[in-house]
Amino acid sequence: MNPDRRPGRLVLLGHPVSHSLSPAFQNAALHAAGIALRYELLDVTPDALPDTLTRLRADRAAGNVTIPHKEAMHARCERLTTVARRVGAVNTFWIDDDEGLVGDNTDVAGFEAMAAQLGVVGDGCVVACLGSGGAAAAVCAAVEQWPRAVVRLHGRTPTRSRTLAARFGGHVQLAESVAAAIEDADVVVNATPVGLRDADVPVEVARLPRDARVMDLVYRVGETRWVRAARAAGHEAADGREMLLHQGAAAFERWFGIPPDLEAMRHALHEAASA
Ligand code: NAP
Repeated sequence: MNPDRRPGRLVLLGHPVSHSLSPAFQNAALHAAGIALRYELLDVTPDALPDTLTRLRADRAAGNVTIPHKEAMHARCERLTTVARRVGAVNTFWIDDDEGLVGDNTDVAGFEAMAAQLGVVGDGCVVACLGSGGAAAAVCAAVEQWPRAVVRLHGRTPTRSRTLAARFGGHVQLAESVAAAIEDADVVVNATPVGLRDADVPVEVARLPRDARVMDLVYRVGETRWVRAARAAGHEAADGREMLLHQGAAAFERWFGIPPDLEAMRHALHEAASA
């Protein structure tokens, strides 16, 4: 990429953001690529988002978006990529000289990479998805690309689950209970914050189908209790760290037009998550 067209700033927009591990691995990628930028955390309340975006446009900024701004950014972008439109949420953005504010969603690519690393075979896969927010929408958009695969979706707010399922059509089926969602599932995905700050689990491991793979989109130091318990019971299981890494790597490639040094990013993430 022509250095003149590179972003002038790199930021993460969220509220709160101080816990984020993204600066650790994005700054490692910037350093490895010899790009003289720092990835900054911007704690922005919902009320302050419009003014912040005005300033970021002037700075020709690019970056990521996290809770609670992913849907608001979706509404504010002048152009959305196909995948961002499908998910209904933006986690990556940049300013294009001609198109203005462009929104993308790299959580889908992150989920795909996590599934591949866990040995999930997409073709014909039955995916139980617990939760019906933005992360669940990314799961639905990823599984949509897998031939003959279905999502059994269960969220605690039925109207929200119904709205999400209706946006995706036949391959996303509503499940009335957690038990109905996980019955005969090949993969069980936690797309809720359960386990993030507590020792709760989205579903007891003893209730999982014997061969089900376990994907916890939540990540925390030492993994979640759910992932540890699932692995101890013989399930292939992973927390959301690999998804986080790959959504970040895909974002870097959008901003700079080159793939980042993934091993440098992984190492930095590992160090930051163990600190
Ligand atoms: P979100 O849009 O706020 O949706 C959260 C979903 O979880 C909603 O369906 C919500 O139900 C449900 N929920 C919240 N608390 C719950 C509880 N105590 N019990 C049962 N359900 C509950 O959030 P999101 O963006 O989808 O993110 C969800 C989680 O995924 C985050 O906490 C984050 O840890 C993880 N995530 C990880 C990555 C990664 O790269 N690894 C990327 C994105 C997200 P209601 O609608 O009833 O509130």
